[in-house]
Amino acid sequence: MPLFTYRCEACGAIFEALVRSGRAEPTACQTCHATAIRRQPSAFAVTHSEVDALRSLDPMYKRMVEDQMARTPDAEPMRHLNKLTPFSAAPDPGPPIDF
Ligand SMILES: [Zn+2]
Repeated sequence: MPLFTYRCEACGAIFEALVRSGRAEPTACQTCHATAIRRQPSAFAVTHSEVDALRSLDPMYKRMVEDQMARTPDAEPMRHLNKLTPFSAAPDPGPPIDF
């Protein structure tokens, strides 16, 4: 659902509107209700708003990811230690190297 930024030609107000596909775009200024509004090619405003939207989703998304990660084999904290050879079973490395 795209978020567009509009600027009122009459009063200069800038506002954003979510425009669902198939729905009409806003036709009047939200401040002065003039109909002389123009959609702004404002990449910054759109990007900023998308970042805000992702940030608002973040806690729920992070918990969902952590729940899924906890069920994978990689979540086992001892997984690397269990693969190691204990000192008692390791071959004798020989005398220490003299530098
Ligand atoms: Zn206006």
